[in-house]
Amino acid sequence: MLNMSKQTEELDLVIIGSGPAGLTASIYATRAKLNSIVLENEVIGGQIIGTYTIENYPGFTTIGGAELAEKMHNHAINLGGKIDEFDPIVSVKLSDDEKIIETENKIYKPKTVIIATGSRARRLPIPEEGKFHGNGIHYCELCDAAMYEEKDVVAVGGGNSALEGIIFLAKYAKSITVVHQFDHFQGNKSNQDTVLNNPKVKIIWNSEVRHAIGENKLEAISIENTQTKEISEIKTDGVFVFIGRTPATDLFKNTIALNEWGYILTDENMRTNIKGVYAAGDVRDKMFRQITTAIADGTIAALMAERFITKKED
Ligand SMILES: Cc1cc2nc3c(=O)[nH]c(=O)nc-3n(C[C@H](O)[C@H](O)[C@H](O)COP(=O)(O)OP(=O)(O)OC[C@H]3O[C@@H](n4cnc5c(N)ncnc54)[C@H](O)[C@@H]3O)c2cc1C
Repeated sequence: MLNMSKQTEELDLVIIGSGPAGLTASIYATRAKLNSIVLENEVIGGQIIGTYTIENYPGFTTIGGAELAEKMHNHAINLGGKIDEFDPIVSVKLSDDEKIIETENKIYKPKTVIIATGSRARRLPIPEEGKFHGNGIHYCELCDAAMYEEKDVVAVGGGNSALEGIIFLAKYAKSITVVHQFDHFQGNKSNQDTVLNNPKVKIIWNSEVRHAIGENKLEAISIENTQTKEISEIKTDGVFVFIGRTPATDLFKNTIALNEWGYILTDENMRTNIKGVYAAGDVRDKMFRQITTAIADGTIAALMAERFITKKED
């Protein structure tokens, strides 16, 4: 039920999410003179904020993720793009004829919507995750590694993001015990070599975390060997989790067509199953999730929204 005491704003386009896809959509929308706003519920920039160095973004041999995010943000703002990061969305109603986005303070009635909500880290599937989230169990090494200077930490996972995370953690931690569910790493060879040759790193293969143990502070975790079923404990000050990502589509579950993993289904022009609603970036069902593919999606989505508004496109 909409709270009608809130101010209602009619506009051309609401972009949900301010990662590379959302910021690019904002740049194109502003240049097309659409009255648009980007809504963000965490930090402007999306996933790249937590990426140490990026070496595959054309034009920059190497650039820090936070620096690239700031450049994209400034670009959008300098063109006159509006971004609101302090007003979380509470409900979304999307149909062919009407789009309503209610935030804590406002009701937006846009002609078009671009969903660019990306993905978030998959939570460690143990009962105590909530108790220790942010205080013992962490998902962003760039944000939280400094809390573990000269401490013993556990890293969970074995793909590229885990390996990059471990390499970064090694700058701070005294020791890193890696718990991985397989008997080999899946990440690239050079990251594997760096991790395998680091004397601070000990690896426990074929194992999964079952519990986090501690009263007011994390003290240990229990792990299960998936082959022998043996349970053992590891004393630790903190756990860093790198076990993949999940699409941020909870808000749209009942209206937008999703694939079996929750990613939004679109055609090649970013159209969803609802007219005037587009999806761009990592939130979309696609093969490659990179900054370059996200910004390409954001470009197309904004240009399609412009065509929809000017009645050139369904
Ligand atoms: C560790 C790591 C390293 C990576 N390294 C590289 C690399 O070197 N090169 C490369 O090309 N790619 C890299 N990537 C991938 C790249 O970061 C992503 O492909 C890209 O950020 C996707 O952009 P996006 O805009 O689609 O989504 P995101 O970057 O995920 O941004 C989505 C935004 O939407 C916001 N949001 C979510 N839900 C809501 C909501 N309900 N309301 C409002 N806002 C919401 C989020 O807070 C976020 O800011 C890396 C990713 C990770 C995790």
